[in-house]
Amino acid sequence: MDGALTSRHLGLDLGGTFIKWVVIESTPQGTRTVATGKAATNANGGPGRVVDQLAELGRAAAAEVGTVATVGVGVPGLHDPATGRTRFLPNIPGDWAGVPVVDPVKAAVGVPTVLINDARAFALAELRLGAGRGARSLLGITLGTGVGGGVVIDGGLHFGHDGTAGEIGHQTILPDGPLCGCGNYGCLEALCRASAISAACGCASVEEAVARARAGDDRARAGLEQIGRYLGLGISNAVVLITPDVVVIGGGAAGAGDLLLDPIRVELRKRIHVTNVDQVRLVLTELGPWAGAIGAAIHGAGSVQNISV
Ligand SMILES: [Zn+2]
Repeated sequence: MDGALTSRHLGLDLGGTFIKWVVIESTPQGTRTVATGKAATNANGGPGRVVDQLAELGRAAAAEVGTVATVGVGVPGLHDPATGRTRFLPNIPGDWAGVPVVDPVKAAVGVPTVLINDARAFALAELRLGAGRGARSLLGITLGTGVGGGVVIDGGLHFGHDGTAGEIGHQTILPDGPLCGCGNYGCLEALCRASAISAACGCASVEEAVARARAGDDRARAGLEQIGRYLGLGISNAVVLITPDVVVIGGGAAGAGDLLLDPIRVELRKRIHVTNVDQVRLVLTELGPWAGAIGAAIHGAGSVQNISV
């Protein structure tokens, strides 16, 4: 490394299918990604095995680049920022209540370590290095197994009192809609999660739904339009609350592009009357599948070393 003003930071992104990692390098000239990797998540081994895998991947990733100053770990669910333990990870098998993550990863890598929700990490990454660069306020939405969210206000993530602020997927859209994994009925997530998109489009997967819609399949196109309408309702509710400069959509279904953005735009125009909707940019992720790991790395740098990436 080239002196005290250059530092490297590791981000780990725990997903149900893969654990991804990135190392970012922060210099006075800017920030860049210097290494990436991923491994299939050992999800059926139970939480203990998954945490062992995170720790080992973290140790190996740090060794690959020499050393890192901090680690941030993105988790797909809720955690306790004070103890560094998970609370609820709905899409990875096992009981994740109270599972220590910070301590084992910190012990393996040997540097300060923090947790962040993966969708909050996505929003942070797009704000600093992606589609939201230059924005002061931002709403990030991840369309994956679930529907995640993160809110940036005045240039920084808004965490709320326990790190759960930004859960756009768990606002009620249909009062008597389908049961959500959170226990409520008719949540945006229950209507727009990957399995709901596949079902609405009559397809086996989101990828198939997007491919068929692009090829002109009527049912797939109508399904994506319905999903876009629900998303537009949820985003409208958020926009009138926070009037973000930019709304960034990520996750697998972002590959649908305008097939999803167009019906969202229609709904925003229909629902929003208190602010000028033309001043809210609606865009797709720039960082793609690495956004979560990059955001976790940025969060680690900022919260542990007070380095603004
Ligand atoms: Zn919910």
